[in-house]
Amino acid sequence: MIRHHLSDALLMGYSAGQLPEAFNLVVASHISMCDECRARLESFDAVGGALLESSLDDVVETEQAVGGDSLAATMARIRAGGDQLRKAQPAPRRQGILPGPLARYVGGDLDAVRWRPVGGGVRQAILPTDRSASARLLYIPAGAGVPDHGHQGTELTLVLQGAFSDSTDRFGPGDIEIATEVDEHSPVAEAGVDCICLAATDAPLRFNTLLPRMLQPLLRI
Ligand code: ZN
Ligand code: ZN
Repeated sequence: MIRHHLSDALLMGYSAGQLPEAFNLVVASHISMCDECRARLESFDAVGGALLESSLDDVVETEQAVGGDSLAATMARIRAGGDQLRKAQPAPRRQGILPGPLARYVGGDLDAVRWRPVGGGVRQAILPTDRSASARLLYIPAGAGVPDHGHQGTELTLVLQGAFSDSTDRFGPGDIEIATEVDEHSPVAEAGVDCICLAATDAPLRFNTLLPRMLQPLLRI
């Protein structure tokens, strides 16, 4: 039962192709787990498609009125490209812990992940995305915590297994936490099951204690 969903802004950004690759990965992964957000995305796609169609029609009509056809041909190609993009919807959820879009990045399920220790039993695996934002898998042993930190940009965290809590709420499988500049938190994994998350950030985190701050450049957090 998913309780924390994507914002309208994220869904619109995803639909319009305006998000960094790392955020696209989190959004596509959540959508593959969440019927509610998939339905909301479809409505944003429909609105965006209609806007694109009407603005292209205006341009093509103007061009045809002055007798040219090269622009019309270009617009037809753009339109075909747009249709292709909209058909490239996230795949349905597959077996295993990792949702389909994420499994494609990792090249398999959890057994294909190359974890690196980051201290306190926490492990991470940085995923290959462009540098406009970074994406990582986090493995937080049951009962362990991520050091207290703030954010300079936006941090999206999607729970894949287990659950964590911070001062704002509890986040279970499929839930997404959206943290921004004004949020500081110390997520702690629930007892019982180790917590696995996909996290994406578009700016370095601000750690409030010295040791993680010193390690930050090494860990690329
Ligand atoms: Zn959702
Ligand atoms: Zn955070």
